[in-house]
Amino acid sequence: MPWEEATIHISSVGHASVSAAFEGVHSYWSETRGALYGFRFRDHMQRLLDSLRLGRLEPEFDADALVAAAAELLASWDSRGKDLYVRPWGFARGTHKEQMVPRGTPAEIAIETWEFESKLGRGRTCTLAVSSWPRFNPGASPASMKVFSNYHNGRLGNIDAQARGADWPVFLNGAGNVTESSGSCIALVKGGRLITPDLASGVLDSITRNTLFRLAEDELGLSVETRPVERTELYLADEIFLMGTAAEVLPAVEVDGFPIGDGKTAGAITQALESCYHDTVRAVTDKYDAWLTPVPAA
Ligand code: PMP
Repeated sequence: MPWEEATIHISSVGHASVSAAFEGVHSYWSETRGALYGFRFRDHMQRLLDSLRLGRLEPEFDADALVAAAAELLASWDSRGKDLYVRPWGFARGTHKEQMVPRGTPAEIAIETWEFESKLGRGRTCTLAVSSWPRFNPGASPASMKVFSNYHNGRLGNIDAQARGADWPVFLNGAGNVTESSGSCIALVKGGRLITPDLASGVLDSITRNTLFRLAEDELGLSVETRPVERTELYLADEIFLMGTAAEVLPAVEVDGFPIGDGKTAGAITQALESCYHDTVRAVTDKYDAWLTPVPAA
């Protein structure tokens, strides 16, 4: 519906939002094919439904219906030559005077979109700082749930990292091991191996991480280690990068003042992965077409 016609009752904001879940999805213009493609739409919609179910809300749509709705929304845009971000989110239906949304409340689903230009292949880099705020305990609030309430910890980490002159935080868990950043996962390269914290460390089951590791193995013949990662491994890494739907592949050149690689540019493996990711999301190759949802032209 047109933006100006959309209304939500004021009492839907507040305690009713505690259980609200969301997704960040990217769709990319393919110059090669002259069309817009949604990237891994179904996996994102399934994760949204999983987040809602874990929060005991009852979505009334299945993943295929949500994929079709997102494609219909995108088809209504003049998307020629543009990349669009898609933000599906789900929240408890009705207005809630009680503090806690009860189990079994139906979930409303809304899907928004806006222009979001990809930065792949632009030579972007970032700097990192280990957050003085530890990551929330995944035993208390599961990291696998992409709920808005999990993001306040991320916000505190962002502010903390920026106050110390870095772009993004890296959170440690209660054991002092590396988890993720505020809106992206992290991987390091050491001796030609790709290493990333395992899910039990307390990280979101990132769709970009899953994509990149498949590309690393299939396209670059690299081996991937998923395991607890110590903070000191970051300082001694050959390469480090963040990864996520919005971050895409974002090379880090410094952590807590330790230079990574030459301290200025992305390492060779990170660059190769970024290039494979570009060719996949922009449909240069047809090898991963199963991950792409074609969007009909407006
Ligand atoms: N961790 C957090 C906390 C995030 O918000 C995101 C972005 N959704 C990610 C990791 C990366 O997940 P994905 O690759 O599925 O976007």
